[in-house]
Amino acid sequence: MSEKERVANPPDRYLRQRILPEIGDSGQEKLRGSTILIAGCGAIGGLQAELLTRAGVGKIRIVDRDFVDISNLHRQVLFNEQDAANRLAKVEAAAMKLRSINSDVVIEPHAVDITPRNIESLISGVDFVLDGTDNFETRYLINDACIKHGKRWVYGGVIATTGMVMLIEPRKGPCLRCLVPDPPPPGSIPTCDTSGVLNTAVGVVSSFQATAAIRALCGDSPDRRGLLHIDPWSLNFDFFKIERDSNCPCCVRDRFEFLESKRTSWTTALCGRNSVQVSPPADLCIDMDALHDRLGLAGSVEKTGLLLRFISEAGEMVIFPDGRAIVMGTTDESRARGLYARYIGT
Ligand SMILES: [Zn+2]
Repeated sequence: MSEKERVANPPDRYLRQRILPEIGDSGQEKLRGSTILIAGCGAIGGLQAELLTRAGVGKIRIVDRDFVDISNLHRQVLFNEQDAANRLAKVEAAAMKLRSINSDVVIEPHAVDITPRNIESLISGVDFVLDGTDNFETRYLINDACIKHGKRWVYGGVIATTGMVMLIEPRKGPCLRCLVPDPPPPGSIPTCDTSGVLNTAVGVVSSFQATAAIRALCGDSPDRRGLLHIDPWSLNFDFFKIERDSNCPCCVRDRFEFLESKRTSWTTALCGRNSVQVSPPADLCIDMDALHDRLGLAGSVEKTGLLLRFISEAGEMVIFPDGRAIVMGTTDESRARGLYARYIGT
């Protein structure tokens, strides 16, 4: 093929996907015309984002509240040692990688915590939502917002060698509260902090979630509804049929209790990180240059992409443009709040 012909007829990067009868030309066009939200861009969210960027979904909104840490790297495939050394925001590092994988896809990064105040605008205009979070507080919020606005979403979680996946189609099948009416109390269930996580289980769960997204965006839906439980270590895969709860407070009675609770916790200990996130009670838009100059008087401060990294004799913190800070080297929430008040303000 001559250079002129090659430019006129660029090779089709999606050829092997288009020839799948499940997708075809029409499915590929539907993917290109779709917008999705990936809530959380760490282990499962990062792999979902890579798979769906490669698959050619038109626009991907990624949301994550954290920065890259060396302890993420064994399971979070979008990041490398340099990202961790630079303490880059996860969405910023992810957006760079995803754009280099497929420049046709519009990547929209948001370095924010998902809260009752912003979830409805984050899901606005999206065709499908993928759960890449690591906590039930956010999942119940996603469930409320998606049921209220009729958006399909897919739950996914991984702990140790096991994982779970459930596709939620509002009003057609069970929602998260049909499965578990209330979130488990803090400390009552194992976390990746206490039980660890097998990176291949992350791969299996995120692949099932990304498949659910591709299938839904192509206009198709599985005939059975329920919860998939996997354990790749012991080669166990089980599917539990789940019915809609005729009394479900969310998808039957339209009570969106998590969405309506506009108060969010002021501090959150981050799983497995010996760090505490301190959030202002309202979303802010911080003047990062002015804060940089001000903090320079109290210690060493460095701009790392979107974020500021500040080290003083009292410890280290990373500050986000929405006013949040992650205070490192402590799980003591009152100490973290004290450092925030001292250096950033109340
Ligand atoms: Zn329900």
